[in-house]
Amino acid sequence: MSKSLYELGEVPPLGVVPEQMYATVIRQDRFGEPVKAMQTEVVDVPKPGRGEVLVYVMAAGINYNNVWASLGEPIDVIAMRQRMLGAKEDFHIGGSDGSGVVWAVGEDVRQFKVGDEVILSGGTWDETGEDIRMGVEPLASKSLRAWGYETNYGSFAQYTVVREHQCHPKPANLSWEAGGGYLITGATAYRQLTHWTPHHVRPGDPVLIWGGSGGVGSAAIQIVKLLGGIPIAVVSNPDRVRFCLDLGAAGVIDRREFTHWGRLPDLDDEAATRAWTAEARRFGAKVWEILGERRNPRVVVEHPGEDTLPTSLFVCDNGGMVVLCGGTSGYNGDLDLRYLWMRSKRLQGSHGSDTQENRAVIGLMSDGRLDPCITWCGTFDRIGEGHQMLYANQQGVGNLAALVNAEAPGQTTLGLG
Ligand code: NDP
Repeated sequence: MSKSLYELGEVPPLGVVPEQMYATVIRQDRFGEPVKAMQTEVVDVPKPGRGEVLVYVMAAGINYNNVWASLGEPIDVIAMRQRMLGAKEDFHIGGSDGSGVVWAVGEDVRQFKVGDEVILSGGTWDETGEDIRMGVEPLASKSLRAWGYETNYGSFAQYTVVREHQCHPKPANLSWEAGGGYLITGATAYRQLTHWTPHHVRPGDPVLIWGGSGGVGSAAIQIVKLLGGIPIAVVSNPDRVRFCLDLGAAGVIDRREFTHWGRLPDLDDEAATRAWTAEARRFGAKVWEILGERRNPRVVVEHPGEDTLPTSLFVCDNGGMVVLCGGTSGYNGDLDLRYLWMRSKRLQGSHGSDTQENRAVIGLMSDGRLDPCITWCGTFDRIGEGHQMLYANQQGVGNLAALVNAEAPGQTTLGLG
C-alpha cells in the first residue's frame, strides 16, 4: 500500500506519487542568512501540468542564486511570484541544478517517460511562447525563468516539477551528484566562452577568469584549455591558487595583492584616479608576467561584478570582450566608457545556457574531459549550510552539491530496472 509521505531515500513504487514530501523551505518571516532561512518542512508534492515532468530528486546542486533567495534580496522571490504570476504559495523551495528519475509526466510530454534517469537544467522557458515561435532564442525570451529561483519547487525537495526541455538523459557513468551538481555553472561558463561570436575562444587566446576556483571559474579554466586558449585565473587564497594550477591555469593572480576594487573614483579626484589606474596597470602587468609577453586577455569571464568590472574592462584587449554572468559583489558596475568605445571593447551579458550547450557539457563530463569538481557533497539537512559557505565565501574549491534521495555519494542509478 502506498504511503502519503516517504522518508528520504525510501523509494516508493515507481510512478506512485505520495501526497507529501520533505523539502528545504524558505519563508519570508525567516529571510536572512541561509542557515536560518532554509529549514526542512513537509509540504504537498506538486503536480506536473501540460508539458511538465515530475522528477524524484536524487541530488541537487548548490548555487549562489538561493543565497539571494534566502536573504530576500535583491528580490523577494515569493512576493514577486505572487505579484507577477498569481502564485498562491507563501514559501520558496530553491534548487536550480539536479538529477533524478522521472516519476510522472503531464499531458503532451513526448520525449521522457516514467523511470528515465535525467539531469535537469536550470533555465526554463515556454517553448510555445510567441517570441520563441518568432525566432527569439529561448535565453532572450520573455518567458525565461531560473527554475528553483524565479520558479518554485526546485531541486531541494524529494520531488520537483520541470518543463520537459529541462530534462537530459543521464549518462550511466555519472554519479547523481556529479550530474546534478554542475550544469548551471558548467554550461553557463561554456556559453560565455563559445557562444558570443566572434569572441568565442580561439587557440592561443588569453582568457582572464575571475574566481577561478569557484563553480563558473573552475569550469571556465577547463573549457578554455579544451578550446586551446590560455586560462589565467584570479583567486584569494593559496589553496585556490594550487587548485587552479592543477586544473590547467597557465598562471594565477592573488587578488589580495591589490587594493583598487570596487567602484571607480570620481574622475574629478585626480589623485584617486591616478592611484586606481596605477593599481589596474599593476594588475595588467601580472597578466603579462604570466603570459611572458605584453598581451591582454581577449576574453574576460566576469561574475564578481561591482568590485572587478572596472578592472576587467581596463585589462581586456582592444577589440576583446568582457562577458558577464553575475554580480556577486554588487550590481553597480562602473565603466570608464573611454576604454569601451575608443578601444572597441565589448561588454556582453550572458545568462544560463541553451539545450545544445547543456547537452554538450553533459557529454564532456561523461567523456571525462570536464571534471565537475564536486568537492563538497552534503546530506539533505545540510543544504542551508552549503549556501552559508557560499554566502561567506568560505566554501572550498569547485562545486557544492547535496544528496536528496540518493543515499551516498558516487551512486549512479536508482536501479529500478
Ligand atoms: P562560487 O562561489 O563557486 O565562486 C565565486 C568566486 O568568486 C569565489 O570563489 C571567489 O573567488 C570569487 N569572488 C567572490 N567575491 C569576489 C569579489 N568581491 N571580487 C572578486 N572575486 C570574488 O560561485 P559560482 O562560480 O557558482 O557563481 C559565481 C557568480 O556567477 C554568482 O554570482 C552566481 O550567481 C553567478 N552565476 C550566474 C549564472 C547565470 O546563468 N547568470 C549561472 C551560474 C552562476 P576568490 O575569493 O578566490 O577570488
